[in-house]
Amino acid sequence: MAHSIPESMEAWIQQIGKRAPIRKRVPVPKPAANGLLVKILAMGVCHSDCTIAAMDAPIPGMRMEFILGHEACGEIVQLGSNVNASDFAVGDKVAILIVPGCHDASCPQCNRGLHAICRAPDSGNYGLGIDDGMFAEYIAIATRAAVKLPAGVDINEAAVAADAVLTSYQAVRYTADVQPDQTIAIFGLGGVGLNGLQTAIHLRAKRILVVDKRQATLDEAVKLGIPKEDTFCTGDADAKRIEQYVAETGVQVDTAVDFVGHVETFHSAQFTVRPGGTIVIVGLISRRARSYRCYSGTRKGLAECLDLMAKGVLKPLVETKSIEELPSVMRDLDEGKVKSRMVLLPDWKHEKSAA
Ligand SMILES: [Zn+2]
Ligand SMILES: [Zn+2]
Repeated sequence: MAHSIPESMEAWIQQIGKRAPIRKRVPVPKPAANGLLVKILAMGVCHSDCTIAAMDAPIPGMRMEFILGHEACGEIVQLGSNVNASDFAVGDKVAILIVPGCHDASCPQCNRGLHAICRAPDSGNYGLGIDDGMFAEYIAIATRAAVKLPAGVDINEAAVAADAVLTSYQAVRYTADVQPDQTIAIFGLGGVGLNGLQTAIHLRAKRILVVDKRQATLDEAVKLGIPKEDTFCTGDADAKRIEQYVAETGVQVDTAVDFVGHVETFHSAQFTVRPGGTIVIVGLISRRARSYRCYSGTRKGLAECLDLMAKGVLKPLVETKSIEELPSVMRDLDEGKVKSRMVLLPDWKHEKSAA
């Protein structure tokens, strides 16, 4: 049965320089000829949303006003006129790649395979200021941004697949290229870092040392099988520092993956890796180490993540709240009060802004 698509929808709009997003009723977008209209079923909230909300001015190519949100999964409700019915069908559930890239042969990013850092007008960048994002009832996306969910993937976990999971998976699997004989140090076990740890375990890293300021997140690592003596709590002034431990024991750390990206963790990582080792810094915005920065990933990587999630190898920790609570969730996230990944359910209150 055809889904009846309304004319307008609820959305959280970010105006650059205005800090908190505001609620507005906006027209439901139309899918492009090679695009899809997706009804959003679950939305992940990322610290990058807070970073965008805190911006004073747009960066080049960024709009002044757009729908916020870059993590979601949904259900296809309409196909663009040129979409092949053998590729997608109404009713398919999909995860959405944040930056599928423009795929133009002349694009200096896409023609080197770096689709995830393409900033062309039709690159996607959903919710990141170029195209509208996912804190809304519907989104129009390019078919190249959609990856069908395999059976067995939880909708709320699928919402964070394209960022929290893919970013960490891509960083550990491909950028850090973790091998079974290697010793790895992971800094930061938030929503992204914990999935990076699961990926390193999946890749059978010989030994994994983990660092976080919160004991509760280190306890999650212990639950995943990391020995207690390989956890380092920087929030405890009396606890041993990883760089001190490495210096005293002579443990050779091949690769440090820094999911925090602060100057303190970068400094610590430099004194933790062996000479000639590798440091990978993960995150959307990393002012101090731009050359290492990596975020999100490829369509192939996203399909691999969803497959590992269906098999239970990667299991993002998510908590759910209502989409109506977005501003307070963003405040909590900014204040470091969210331990796992917050996923918002699309239980929109329509009477709120009926105008
Ligand atoms: Zn993000
Ligand atoms: Zn491009």
